[in-house]
Amino acid sequence: MLPKYSFIIPIYNEEETLLEMYRRVSTVMDRMDGAVELIFVNDGSRDRSIQIIREFHQQDERVCYLSFARNFGHQIAVTAGLNFTRGKVIVVLDGDLQDPPELIPDMVEKWRQGYQVVYAQRIKRSKESWFKRFTAYSFYRILKYLADVDIPTDTGDFCLMDRQIVELLNAMPERNRYIRGLRSWVGFRQTAIPFERDPRFAGDVKYTFRKSLALAVNSLVSFSKVPLRISTYLGLLSAALALLMSVLILYWRLTAPNSPLTGFAAIAIAILFLGSVQLISIGILGEYIGRIYEEVKGRPLYTLADVGGFEIKTKS
Ligand code: UDP
Ligand code: MG
Repeated sequence: MLPKYSFIIPIYNEEETLLEMYRRVSTVMDRMDGAVELIFVNDGSRDRSIQIIREFHQQDERVCYLSFARNFGHQIAVTAGLNFTRGKVIVVLDGDLQDPPELIPDMVEKWRQGYQVVYAQRIKRSKESWFKRFTAYSFYRILKYLADVDIPTDTGDFCLMDRQIVELLNAMPERNRYIRGLRSWVGFRQTAIPFERDPRFAGDVKYTFRKSLALAVNSLVSFSKVPLRISTYLGLLSAALALLMSVLILYWRLTAPNSPLTGFAAIAIAILFLGSVQLISIGILGEYIGRIYEEVKGRPLYTLADVGGFEIKTKS
């Protein structure tokens, strides 16, 4: 018997939150109008998370798990969960109770009204640092401005998706997976549910600044070609400046032979300016080429060390 609902929860060192997480999610599961499978994806946790998940699996047959052989990152953990889901309706939520499971029935209600994607949109972030709120706020707005698909602002991965959408996501071969972006890219009928983002239940943020920055660069490069055009614009600008300079220098040479503009400082500035324009351009190119290289290698997205509740032992 296939479950009607699949809930996916990525877990990275969440031993302090797992019990409470399971308690709150299973209360919601009990109230659903069909069978639910709860898929924990252990993203190479170094604490007791996987032992706790195994215990859940032994006590509760609705709980399944996938355990990575190392830390592959949140987006890949969600991807793995999506690959293995069997339900008609799929819900993705964070493992730290920042995404309240109690919102799921409301999301299902929207799905019944005919929406294939129901994403939760943060109207308030309680108790997150001003730095996090500021960077998140500006990032979502820059992304909205630059991206070729309309990615709604202030939405995370907390969402409900119809099977149809998940099949499409699973068929996408790319390895730089910015799930929120891909989810918008597919189209269909999508709607938002506003919610207040609770503070983390326990433990530290697992998205370090480095991981967040990598995700931000990834999403920009995956969903926009504008950065590539920046080098063209910079090039055009410096060409225009150079032209202007030549005309000026010629003019000064003819009228005032001792003009300082023809001196050492002018040359140094020109060299430094051009040098930086070129390096920035090469850097931007590199971001894209590095991703092409990643795609071409075609390595599996993750390696599984252990699974519970699934037939397959390993998947590539
Ligand atoms: N997470 C993960 N792999 C990672 C980092 C985070 O699976 O490398 C999980 C983490 O356990 C949590 C979710 O992703 O369930 C969101 O992480 P976190 O709460 O640290 O980030 P934020 O709330 O800032 O988005
Ligand atoms: Mg969190």
